[in-house]
Amino acid sequence: MAHTSSRAAILDVIRAAGTISRVELTRATGLTGATISTVVRRLMNDGLVVEAGRAESTGGKPRMLLQLDPSARFAVGVHLDHAGITYVLANLGGAVVARWRKPGAGADDPREVVARIAAEIDGMITRVGIDRTRVLGLGVVSPGPITASVGMVLTPPNMRRWADFPLGDALEDAVGVPVLLDNDATAAAIGEYWAGGIETTSAFAAFYMGTGIGAGILVNGTVYRGASSNAGEVGHICVDIDGPECWCGSRGCVEALAGPAAVVAQAQARGLDLGGADRPVSAQFAAVARAALSGDPVAAEILARSARYLGVAAQTLANVMDLELVVLTGPAFALAGSLYLPAVQEQLSRSFFARASHPVRVTISTNAPEAAAVGAAALVLQSELAPRHSGVRLPPEVAGEVSAQELATLA
Ligand SMILES: [Zn+2]
Repeated sequence: MAHTSSRAAILDVIRAAGTISRVELTRATGLTGATISTVVRRLMNDGLVVEAGRAESTGGKPRMLLQLDPSARFAVGVHLDHAGITYVLANLGGAVVARWRKPGAGADDPREVVARIAAEIDGMITRVGIDRTRVLGLGVVSPGPITASVGMVLTPPNMRRWADFPLGDALEDAVGVPVLLDNDATAAAIGEYWAGGIETTSAFAAFYMGTGIGAGILVNGTVYRGASSNAGEVGHICVDIDGPECWCGSRGCVEALAGPAAVVAQAQARGLDLGGADRPVSAQFAAVARAALSGDPVAAEILARSARYLGVAAQTLANVMDLELVVLTGPAFALAGSLYLPAVQEQLSRSFFARASHPVRVTISTNAPEAAAVGAAALVLQSELAPRHSGVRLPPEVAGEVSAQELATLA
């Protein structure tokens, strides 16, 4: 355990830094120089870390820089949804090597869908031409809620057939690699973190809007999962105790008042042409967003109101978790993010409780359309390569203990 945590911490700091020297690693992790050189040697033997040339000299011997070898390992991410299945192949650095999208689970038998997914992944690994032994595993994400072990209870109405289907086991048998399941918002947050640009010591949330609204929360590089991996359900924050019923069983939820389905219903009621009421909610929401972006005042008004609700949800989560950063992601924000961002940012700037101490920054993900699938792959990379239960930076007394234990096992 001690070894795992120092290895995980070192790997995570190298990943976040891009390139870093051994001396800088001792400063960033609080581990001793002896532990750093032992663990780095092992990471190099495993092919995960390579030397990347020497830093500019500032007097004395220039330092050798270390970096991840992005092609050392790969992970497959799958976002399984009613309307579509998105696949990505990501490398160790979190970069997407291949991506494609196929028709969704629809009303098909779950066993047929699993066979289809296995065949897709097999064909893709062959096409890209990577060594199969470098594929660490498969991450699969879906709209929550989920159960912690193998079952994913896809209770959103479209996928009721999947409730109690042993998805993890079935995929593991069919694909032949370890399978991890998670909800889409949590995975999207891990994907943002793994792909870089986020401080390893930050408190941030990824706000995910697909057909529903959720959030994944990372504090010091570690996911906050709650008791059953269902934390971050910001779509079900109540903003009107007498509001409309929500599918979750509560009333007046943000999602029921301002989620994509609510936006579409309001647009239909106001007579906007969304290309046919039988189209999927995601397609009709996209039509509202496009209308607003091209200057339709009714569409713009409906989305501006939705954005104010999202702002309140973001403020609520920021107040509870003392967040520094909110990243808007998922297919709905990929298209409409620029319409939501100013309202969310304004709400946080004006009303975030600890605004006198620090601001909460709001950004749009660069991976928004396929964030959940990228996150599914990152889930595998993180759990295989950097499993941990605490933050990256170890307190000095723990770090000392770790290195003593490690040195003892080496002696
Ligand atoms: Zn609800």
